[in-house]
Amino acid sequence: MNQEKISIIIPVYNEKDNLNELYNKLKKIMNEFFAGFEYEIIFVDDGSKDGSFEILKSIHDTDNNVKIIKFSKNFGQHIAIKAGIDMADGDYTVLTDADMQDDPASINDLYGKLKEGYDVVIGIRENRQDGFFKKISSSLFFKTMNGLSKVKMQENQAMLRIFNKKVLNTLKNMQELSQNNGAFLAWMGFEQGTLPIRHQKRAKGKTKYTLLKSLRFASETIMNFSNKPLIYISVFGMFISVCSIIFSIFIIYQKLFHDVGLIGWASTVTFISFFSGMILFSLGVVGLYIGKLYQQSLGRPLYIIKDKIE
Ligand code: UDP
Ligand code: MG
Repeated sequence: MNQEKISIIIPVYNEKDNLNELYNKLKKIMNEFFAGFEYEIIFVDDGSKDGSFEILKSIHDTDNNVKIIKFSKNFGQHIAIKAGIDMADGDYTVLTDADMQDDPASINDLYGKLKEGYDVVIGIRENRQDGFFKKISSSLFFKTMNGLSKVKMQENQAMLRIFNKKVLNTLKNMQELSQNNGAFLAWMGFEQGTLPIRHQKRAKGKTKYTLLKSLRFASETIMNFSNKPLIYISVFGMFISVCSIIFSIFIIYQKLFHDVGLIGWASTVTFISFFSGMILFSLGVVGLYIGKLYQQSLGRPLYIIKDKIE
């Protein structure tokens, strides 16, 4: 019988102090719990500048189950994950971060749950160890995303997750510029389970997400799965038009029957400036959607590989 295979995908951006420890942990798990399996650990170096690639190469020299993709520049965590997905061919695929905040020791529990009959099992961070702003902004993202789109993402989901080959092959086909693995999984369907996992503070290195980067990522994902902002703008526009018709009938009535001409420089200026702002805001939102359409229509590759070591 052919051996089953596990692919582990890890996006890496300036994680030099975490890589050896992470590799040792993963190797231990593979040896202890997945002894009968073939495996590959795919590290995707997302344009690191701190020597992460050299460390990865030295790990590869000792273990040819380790594969490395090096990007030509920084493309972002989820694009790095996509490159790993494109390369992976395991029967089961595990995603996890390089910083070990989601405890890799949970991989065998995730696998155990998957075998209960799921296609995907996502780790849930019950004791999330991130800063105050990160927790708030993340919770806001999940609520907005779930409120505005039909896709329902699990709140507090970890990057640590496992899925089978059907899911892997579906993910290989997702060619959108705005990659978000969690949103794709939620959109796809399949049998999805969750499992509480331990979340830890980042031991080494810093988070790679500034508030601005997180906001941009969140808004891109929401636009990818919802056109509700466009609908709200149209409804608001219609509401204002109806109000202005009613208001103009009132002005004509006052003039004809009571000979009252409404004065009001201040109110006029207030209205004009408010609605000019709303018009520009609406144009901006429409522009963002058109911008996404334009970027996608260019058909550029999602990522550029500088080096590949298999
Ligand atoms: N990462 C990446 N490219 C980026 C940003 C992050 O490959 O542009 C990787 C990073 O090295 C880590 C994972 O994505 O393995 C999660 O990043 P981080 O721990 O900084 O995110 P946080 O846990 O703070 O959300
Ligand atoms: Mg982290």
